[in-house]
Amino acid sequence: MKNVAVLGATGSIGASTLDVIARHPDRFRASVLSAHRNVAALAALCERFRPALAVIADPALEGELARRLAAAGVHCEVASGQPALAAAASGASCDIVVAAIVGAAGLDSTLAAAHAGKRLLLANKESIVLGGPLLLEALRTGGGELIPVDSEHNAIFQCLPGGRPDLARSGVRRLVLTASGGPFRGRSRADLAAVTPEQACKHPKWSMGRKISVDSATLMNKGLEVIEAHHLFGAPAAAIDVLVHPQSLVHSLVEYVDGSVLAQLGNPDMRTAIAHALAWPERVEAGVPALDLATAGALQFEAPDLDTFRCLALAFQALRAGGDAPAILNAANEVAVEAFLAGTLPFLAIAEVVEAVLAELPAQAVVDVESLVARDGEARAAAWRQLRRAC
Ligand code: NAD
Ligand code: MG
Repeated sequence: MKNVAVLGATGSIGASTLDVIARHPDRFRASVLSAHRNVAALAALCERFRPALAVIADPALEGELARRLAAAGVHCEVASGQPALAAAASGASCDIVVAAIVGAAGLDSTLAAAHAGKRLLLANKESIVLGGPLLLEALRTGGGELIPVDSEHNAIFQCLPGGRPDLARSGVRRLVLTASGGPFRGRSRADLAAVTPEQACKHPKWSMGRKISVDSATLMNKGLEVIEAHHLFGAPAAAIDVLVHPQSLVHSLVEYVDGSVLAQLGNPDMRTAIAHALAWPERVEAGVPALDLATAGALQFEAPDLDTFRCLALAFQALRAGGDAPAILNAANEVAVEAFLAGTLPFLAIAEVVEAVLAELPAQAVVDVESLVARDGEARAAAWRQLRRAC
């Protein structure tokens, strides 16, 4: 029996994870559940899954969570705040940590799980974009293992011998990340000037949280994933390509020097990657319908439009700049996406804010978590200044 901490249990990845766990009560137990502010949803999950520990990130809501759980007859430990999340990720209540918090807010708990040698199921791509070298170091010293949950990286993991080998020695020439293209694929810049958050969040293939949905619409999601792939698989920027594939059935590809190309296919449902990562190296039922290629129709592939979707080009630029440039990119993007979702920033200005902040804060070497968090803060302040100018 493996005890699983689901950090970000009330989100989209959280729900998919709990769905897979519920299918295998003999193998997995949701021993820790966390949420940001949605006490009612967290309490309901605790009633159903009976974890040992429930953590609400906002300390002001701890009392309310405790009251709701007591009223429902749920006896579990209750904690609150970011330090409690990190303690839960590294504590004795779990063997596996599913990092499904959105944004840089997931960094501390992701690092804590890595330091503690847990099996880390990484969905929270912002934490590896922000602190890639520190996370890799924590995994090395902690002795744990990271299994990617992001569908593209999970696909690449499945197409590489041993999951994560030395790419050059394994004869890998290129990693190819597929992208659905998002809801605005094929549109021109002029078409995108007035799009709304509701339009941006209406993803054609995947059902996801609002932040990643906007990132998919700008293609920043693919940009963050390029940086994620660089860290996870040790691939230089020049060996990572992006291919738009609107059907979202081919989740990514690995090209070898002999001309072989291996791909992983499946219906667009995150439970496949989550079940794979939970059970690896075994396989378990995920609740995902079998892929029927005979009825799936034609599969299309095309190059991404980097002029319209500037965020993808900016992510490659940040990766090539190195150091903490990806952290700066991520922080500026989080601020800009929040403003777009709040209705105070036009869609096309997201890339403008990110570009201006990258220009204002040239890359520095990544030293430690403290300096990285300080740079994240500087980038957010610079992005807010840009917002005041843009609005
Ligand atoms: P979501 O918005 O649906 O859920 C986010 C979760 O994080 C919620 O449980 C929320 O309570 C929690 N949270 C938010 N802010 C927090 C904070 N400040 N402190 C603590 N907890 C906080 O998001 P999602 O779509 O589930 O995505 C989660 C992560 O997984 C993101 O990093 C996303 O990029 C990544 N991811 C998601 C998908 C997907 O299909 N949804 C696919 C690949 C990767
Ligand atoms: Mg992905």
